Amino acid sequence: MILYNTLGQTKQEFIPYKDKKVNMYTCGPTVYHFAHIGNLRTYIMEDVLEKYLRYSGYDVTRIMNITDVGHLSSDADTGEDKMLAGAKREHKTVMEIAKFYTEAFFEDCKKLNIKTPDIVEPATNCINDFINMVSVLLEKGYAYIAGGNVYFDTSKLDNYYVFGNFKEEDLAVGVRDSVDADENKKNKSDFVLWFTKSKFEDQELKWESPWGMGYPGWHIECSAISIKHSGEHLDIHCGGIDNAFPHHTNEIAQSEAFLGHPWCKYWFHVLHLNDARGKMSKSKGGFLTVSLLEENGYDPLAYRMFCLQSHYRKPLTFSYDSLDNIQKSYIKLINRIANLKCEDTVNEEKLISYRESFRNAMDNDLNTSLGLTCVYDVLKADNLSDSEKRKLIKEFDYVLSLDLLRGKTSSENSNISVSDDFNREIEELIIKRNEARKNKDWSTADAIRDELKAKKIVLIDTPQGVKWELEK
Ligand code: AMP
Ligand code: ZN
Repeated sequence: MILYNTLGQTKQEFIPYKDKKVNMYTCGPTVYHFAHIGNLRTYIMEDVLEKYLRYSGYDVTRIMNITDVGHLSSDADTGEDKMLAGAKREHKTVMEIAKFYTEAFFEDCKKLNIKTPDIVEPATNCINDFINMVSVLLEKGYAYIAGGNVYFDTSKLDNYYVFGNFKEEDLAVGVRDSVDADENKKNKSDFVLWFTKSKFEDQELKWESPWGMGYPGWHIECSAISIKHSGEHLDIHCGGIDNAFPHHTNEIAQSEAFLGHPWCKYWFHVLHLNDARGKMSKSKGGFLTVSLLEENGYDPLAYRMFCLQSHYRKPLTFSYDSLDNIQKSYIKLINRIANLKCEDTVNEEKLISYRESFRNAMDNDLNTSLGLTCVYDVLKADNLSDSEKRKLIKEFDYVLSLDLLRGKTSSENSNISVSDDFNREIEELIIKRNEARKNKDWSTADAIRDELKAKKIVLIDTPQGVKWELEK
């Protein structure tokens, strides 16, 4: 597989540290507000990467933090803690809003078929890990104390700007203005590892530390959590492109200074979702959420398809017009697939070249739009039976996760689609029954027929295969 690596800024062959084992770390949400569909673009593309690695036989462990402390309104360590600002806005405690927005985030992910990472760790669970890492950095001479805070000394590194230069407009999301110069810093690029002093004395969450009561900087969270769960070597680190600098640059600085050797091999960054006003951002307000899309009659999976149709390394502009078109194509596609018969034999030989095309697309730096085209190619193929088509589409959908076999959805002209778990369940039972019959496993076939009967489903044998309808 070829992946673009921000470290080196080239496409590179993906070779993990250990054979088929992949450790993958994702910067999780800062839970002071709902995730917007821009944040979710990043999580959708990371989900595709994880699933494609699994599809390719890698044993993936995916780790995600939840930022519930320390992310200030400017990524350059100034301003108020975003969590505190969120708590004030809603007249709640920081922990109350963290819980509420963490749950909301995972609900959105579920609607978009984004798998929950294997390990999810809120930053506030790991205070001792942060303190340990900061202590080691001080011992090794990479950090200093000034004005009550602990800072990382970037002048101790040969090359701090590891990713090279980015265009400022690619990086900036949200509030990056009003960066008051911090007089304590020895170098402009130094960053805070531990705060005991800030302008905002009402910081709600503080912990004892060797440097006084305080709280961690945002960057140390991701380094410590990732090292805690994946050890000294990380294969892939993901995030939106705005995280490349300063967040990921700082993560590399402190992780490698702490470990004393190179740390993460591949840096996977997703470009921004923009709207008419520019980059979508929580702090700007007026952003779009999954719930808002649903209220306007859109299926969250139509948004997933919208994201898959463009490459993750290109900025994507959202508009309702484009989403309308994609939703129509999505419903058409689902209904075309629903019309595929459930009976037929499968000739594995015939599937090979289609699988190869899908792999070629995805192996080429995760070309998801070409991956989607492979689904259409399968549907069009004259040499494939309906069962063969279903089988291939089911396999590709493991990665694309568009619920392509969900069964018929309502009117193609309406932009409201029925999320029909029931349809899907029935279709799957019919397929299992057909397989049982093919294998002359009559007892399973009969049991499934009974189960369908209990659900008031009538099976009708037609020359095109088995169809079903609800008992009248
Ligand atoms: P946050 O909750 O602000 O910490 O951001 C969560 C993730 O969303 C991070 O990986 C960000 O880089 C990413 N992100 C923020 N804004 C956008 C955007 N407009 N488009 C795509 N990803 C974004
Ligand atoms: Zn992070």
